[in-house]
Amino acid sequence: MDVSVQFLTDELNRKGIRPSYQRIKVLEYLHQKEGHPTVEEIFQQLAPHIPSLSKTTIYNTLRALVEAGLVRSISIDDIETRYDLKLVNHCHFQCDACGAIFNFSIDIDNIPIAELKQFQVKEKNVYYKGLCPKCLSPKPIEE
Ligand SMILES: [Zn+2]
Ligand SMILES: [Zn+2]
Repeated sequence: MDVSVQFLTDELNRKGIRPSYQRIKVLEYLHQKEGHPTVEEIFQQLAPHIPSLSKTTIYNTLRALVEAGLVRSISIDDIETRYDLKLVNHCHFQCDACGAIFNFSIDIDNIPIAELKQFQVKEKNVYYKGLCPKCLSPKPIEE
């Protein structure tokens, strides 16, 4: 999804985050790539265009965006935290072979869990792992 700089500036302002150039770029990247990038990936993509950018800046920006509720952090593989713009509750499937992460939806908001009746749930994460269709069939299936 392509979004205007004005839209991103407004979004940051609304959340009380100063819309610096680097913050806008990080948020813009998350809007454009509908994946689940890591700090490393974001850095690799943006660094050539923003010479002053550091991984620390990206990390701090993402932390602010997560705190503001604009971005969600997911730690599906315990190795690296990934960042996800999609804030509607959804689930993730990670392929063991290629590492790709897919979104899928189940109605997690309406699963009654008796054991948690007295708890306040702030976040719901569901992770599935396995093999994606591409890795399951490296060659076209012959009929
Ligand atoms: Zn795969
Ligand atoms: Zn996702």
